[in-house]
Amino acid sequence: MLNIVLFGPPGAGKGTQSQKLIEEFQLTHISTGDLFRKHLGEGTELGKRAQAFMDEGRLVPDQLVIDMVDEKLQAENNSHGIIFDGFPRTITQAKALDDLLNQKNTPITGMIALSVPDEELINRIVERGKTSGRVDDQDEAKIATRLQVYKSETLPVANYYEAQERYESIDGVGSIDDIYDRIKEALQKLQEKN
Ligand code: ADP
Repeated sequence: MLNIVLFGPPGAGKGTQSQKLIEEFQLTHISTGDLFRKHLGEGTELGKRAQAFMDEGRLVPDQLVIDMVDEKLQAENNSHGIIFDGFPRTITQAKALDDLLNQKNTPITGMIALSVPDEELINRIVERGKTSGRVDDQDEAKIATRLQVYKSETLPVANYYEAQERYESIDGVGSIDDIYDRIKEALQKLQEKN
């Protein structure tokens, strides 16, 4: 069973690479950003509570995120495994995820981090904003906030996995296929450590 955290700043290509991984390894994709956007679109109570944070590029409060993931995991029984995309984004979320998976006896195999320079990230997000319809992709100040939040609140999550030898980082610049090859190499290394 493969439980992978795909990690990286906004615009790093986590969604794109997740799609390739879920196809090849028949994994379930849990993207908290996608889940929140679905709630927003359906006008649920959770969506309403998350909207202001998302629109401004700030993190949705931990407990809302954790409860949403918990609900997803309860309903999940894919024996191949799960890709977590955009989650965990804080140490509190990382610890909560470990607790939830320990209950199921299916721990995280490891984290694969995509490393991409800020300038490239900003270009990619601005480009995506032309078609994504995402409010948070269309404003330079909001993009800057997201990068800042990533550095201050989310980057420490990488140390959390690294300290447990469940971490591999790869260069996230290049063609989609080249990056995917690097991800698979990283995956192999993580599996050897387990
Ligand atoms: P990106 O990685 O491009 O910023 P996401 O789709 O992952 O986009 O997330 C969009 C927004 O949803 C985030 O800016 C944040 O407001 C909210 N969000 C998504 N995942 C989380 C999370 N794990 N914790 C807190 N907020 C989150």
